Amino acid sequence: MVVGGGLGGLSAAIHLQLKGFHVTLLEKNKTLGGRANRIEAEGFRFDTGPSLLNYPWVFEELFEAAGKKMTDYMQLIPVDPSITFHWPDQTSFTLSSQITKLVSECEKIETGVSAKLFAFLSDAECKYRFSFDKLVLTNEDNPLKWVLSLKPRELAKMGVWHSLHKELGRFFKSPYLREAFGSYAMYLGGSPWALPGLFSILPYGELAYGLWLPKGGIYGMVEALQKLATDVGVQLRTECAVQSISTHGKKVTGVVTEDGTTIDCPIVVSNVDVPQTQAELLDAPAYKKQKTPRMTCGVVTLYWGLRHKDTGLPHHSIFLPSDSRTSFGQLMDEETIPDELPFYICLASETEPSMAPKGQTSAFVLAPVPLISKWGEDWEPAVKLIKERVFDRLKHHGTNLGEEDILVERVWTPVEWRDQFGLFDGSAFGAAHHLFEVGPFRAKNYDTQIRGLYYVGASTTPGTGMPMVILGGKMTAERVCSHVL
Ligand SMILES: Cc1cc2nc3c(=O)[nH]c(=O)nc-3n(C[C@H](O)[C@H](O)[C@H](O)COP(=O)(O)OP(=O)(O)OC[C@H]3O[C@@H](n4cnc5c(N)ncnc54)[C@H](O)[C@@H]3O)c2cc1C
Repeated sequence: MVVGGGLGGLSAAIHLQLKGFHVTLLEKNKTLGGRANRIEAEGFRFDTGPSLLNYPWVFEELFEAAGKKMTDYMQLIPVDPSITFHWPDQTSFTLSSQITKLVSECEKIETGVSAKLFAFLSDAECKYRFSFDKLVLTNEDNPLKWVLSLKPRELAKMGVWHSLHKELGRFFKSPYLREAFGSYAMYLGGSPWALPGLFSILPYGELAYGLWLPKGGIYGMVEALQKLATDVGVQLRTECAVQSISTHGKKVTGVVTEDGTTIDCPIVVSNVDVPQTQAELLDAPAYKKQKTPRMTCGVVTLYWGLRHKDTGLPHHSIFLPSDSRTSFGQLMDEETIPDELPFYICLASETEPSMAPKGQTSAFVLAPVPLISKWGEDWEPAVKLIKERVFDRLKHHGTNLGEEDILVERVWTPVEWRDQFGLFDGSAFGAAHHLFEVGPFRAKNYDTQIRGLYYVGASTTPGTGMPMVILGGKMTAERVCSHVL
């Protein structure tokens, strides 16, 4: 039984079915995908959460595991140039997987940096290879064995003992380049000053394997996975919320759904955020409460159907503050909305016109914000403030996008994210990813107290992000097999 039809839940269900289990997946909402969902309104379509698809090989591998070809289920459209970064002083920088374009953009910012850029790419490639071969994809529980899987020379190269910001400083003098590449820390809901240098593999992965959008938007990929799950024989049940996971002694026995039905089952994989599962779903009197992990920040997401197409913006833009360190500090340490707000804006209809009516634009804005436990339940003043800051900033850069262009608007705050998908404390990206929060230090993908209970998704191993939770599904299935077969 898999509880929750997010991407990790779908991946785990597919892998377990392929290993010979009879899998039923129960999802509380009408649609699958979890955070990767879809809003449809007045001819506009919006992907609710993830919008940047990296590491396409991860998705290909999932289809291949089922003996299928990904291209029979979904098409990936390349997005290149990928992301444009903007600073308040009008400096801008655009990433591309085409090396000549990337070099010329980097040189525009820091003259003579080409050699250092190549050194950065080659260094990050090593980190990427070592981490995927030896660290990310292993179910190793022993921290010492995990670390010692790397040779001393490899470990020294990983940049784990200092911050991502410092690691980038080894290659780039320009604060703009450091901030642009460092901003990938936001994908893990962290700050480049706090996450380890190892995470230079994030910008590398995007440059090496490209940035993609599935045809039909990110939700096109969810539909493809739903079809794959059905084709391999997984039973999918939507609008079926699980109220509790039942146990007898130290063993899982099944689940009780919200309508009071008991479903017996010897193995339950929870795709509901790990701390949420443990706080809300576990019905085991003797369960010793686990320490709640440090959670990543929340997000306010704005979905705008715009009346025209002449915004002057590409598919992906990130607006960074003039003083990133202060803004990240305000967000992560003081847990408040930064005075100078970093935000991301995605116009998916620039690449996939079917996302908006002809001549119009489907826009999505993401601003990082504190968690519910810090900010509270009333987000109206925050949304007003965020919108003011976003419009001021867009105007400052001469874009043709103002409040008067919005035909359709939907707004999700951490409260909607929590209530719709069970995200603990409204945290958008799940448990944090600092040095002692990854690998064997992260919540394991099996429960150490309840036999037969497993986890998959952003807050367990290997971590957050679409490719990671898809890989996590395979790791959880392997874990189940290692215990029961
Ligand atoms: C705004 C935003 C932007 C993001 N951007 C990116 C990006 O650009 N690229 C990227 O790679 N990643 C991105 N991410 C991260 C990525 O979306 C997540 O890491 C990933 O989708 C999490 O998947 P999951 O397996 O943890 O499942 P979740 O998405 O957490 O799904 C869990 C499922 O469980 C269901 N559920 C909850 N409670 C119950 C219950 N009681 N009974 C039954 N079902 C239940 C929920 O409804 C949900 O469907 C983003 C996330 C957010 C929120």
